[in-house]
Amino acid sequence: MTTYPDTKLLIAGKFVDAAQGRQIDVVNPASGVVIGRVAHAGLEDLEAAVAAAQRGFSVWSRTPAVDRSRLMRKAAELFRRDMESTAQALTAEQGKPLAEARGEIERSADIIEWFADEAQRVYGRIVPSRSTSSMQMVVKDPVGPVAAFTPWNFPINQVVRKVSAALATGCSIIVKAPEETPAAPAALLKAFVEAGLPDGVVGLVYGVPSEISEFLIAHPAIRKISFTGSTAVGKHLASLAGKHMKRATMELGGHAPVIVAADADIDLAVSALAAAKFRNAGQVCVAPTRFLVHRDIAAEFAAALARTASGLNVGNGATEGVQMGPLANPRRLSAMQELTENAHAQGAKLLAGGERIGSTGNYWMPTVITDVPSTARIFNDEPFGPVAAIQPYTDLEDAITEANRLPYGLAGYGFTRSLKTAHVLAQRVAVGMLWLNQGAAAHPELPFVGIGDSGYGSEGGPEALEAYLNTRLISSVNAW
Ligand code: NAD
Repeated sequence: MTTYPDTKLLIAGKFVDAAQGRQIDVVNPASGVVIGRVAHAGLEDLEAAVAAAQRGFSVWSRTPAVDRSRLMRKAAELFRRDMESTAQALTAEQGKPLAEARGEIERSADIIEWFADEAQRVYGRIVPSRSTSSMQMVVKDPVGPVAAFTPWNFPINQVVRKVSAALATGCSIIVKAPEETPAAPAALLKAFVEAGLPDGVVGLVYGVPSEISEFLIAHPAIRKISFTGSTAVGKHLASLAGKHMKRATMELGGHAPVIVAADADIDLAVSALAAAKFRNAGQVCVAPTRFLVHRDIAAEFAAALARTASGLNVGNGATEGVQMGPLANPRRLSAMQELTENAHAQGAKLLAGGERIGSTGNYWMPTVITDVPSTARIFNDEPFGPVAAIQPYTDLEDAITEANRLPYGLAGYGFTRSLKTAHVLAQRVAVGMLWLNQGAAAHPELPFVGIGDSGYGSEGGPEALEAYLNTRLISSVNAW
């Protein structure tokens, strides 16, 4: 068994203790036991991190793209090399099964490599001018030092998207990673340090989230922020960014509608949606959350989903073969209890799960409830847990109206064999990412983006790089 590492801050290329020596406990969600400590930054640490990021920016922004790309590829290789120890740490601090932890690492290494390649394709353009004596160039420059704030559900993946886009474009970046799951993001950034990234180009801090965000967003040296987390916190940070005129990318919560039409392939829908729903115990921003199923097939669909849910092997993610681990923190456990009870009180029927498992660790049974009314809290608050809530519908128009009822617009899903229905869903379901007849596939080359209360700015595809670039015009007229 590997030991869980204590986590330090990364400032100016070195992993260091907090200046005041403060630390916070890290708890294993499978056992409730404290497994390690993470350094807790104070203001002097944050000042030092910003000063280092400024120095890092002046070096990195002048480093040729081809060299940046090579170094990023090296970091991906080192990160893959240490996959097993990082996966063990990730599972110990976050709870997800080891297979999912390895998958997160593999996908994150892919993301680094894709952005490393894309770094070499950040082009400006020449705009034909209105006079033969002038030339007009549009150039793209890195925006400056970035501050990123990331959550605990994908402790590596949420960091790697921001770090890769920043490094590809020549920015430096300070990450405030999650205090609950600190070791996995530290392992990621260690790979960049080992690969030879100049000091200060990446920094890593932990502490009191509001103190850190208020300090970094207001700091004149920080030119952009990127946040992943709840809509409530996102709105607060976006308002701070506005106050200080900082660019912002916001990847916030969602409440993904799923429309399963009467002509859907039910087996495909159940297997794709069960995988999407129960992955990471449902703590996924793009997890399907409002299942709108045509009345003709609703009973068959619900029974099949309930059978799949009941058959999942739930346990400590560190045990090979476990398919669903504990919830990441006790807050999610009480949320599952409240949401399930509230739906039941409003007439919903429980088909599977619905209870905590045991009294040690944050285990909640994979749960399926049906006949859930739109007034139930679970149809309004993002559940962020392993509860599938089904509402039968008769008319596709009503299902689309329900899908678009909430202010969120992150992910959506549709299952149908009809091209016509697929087109209607594509045009009318108001989400940033719509997956038809499939689960979510968040490849690095694709936009990862929300609309409405789910935020703004993409974390994938070429659009992700734009968010880290200033566009400038240089127009000149021959003076000779
Ligand atoms: P939360 O809103 O308290 O925290 C979410 C994340 O934001 C955490 O990592 C936290 O450290 C950070 N955070 C909180 N306040 C902050 C501040 N003032 N400045 C900077 N960072 C701050 O929520 P939670 O209890 O951790 O999770 C609850 C809800 O958050 C979930 O139900 C879900 O809706 C949402 N969430 C979304 C994602 C996502 O991937 N979009 C990830 C995690 C949580």
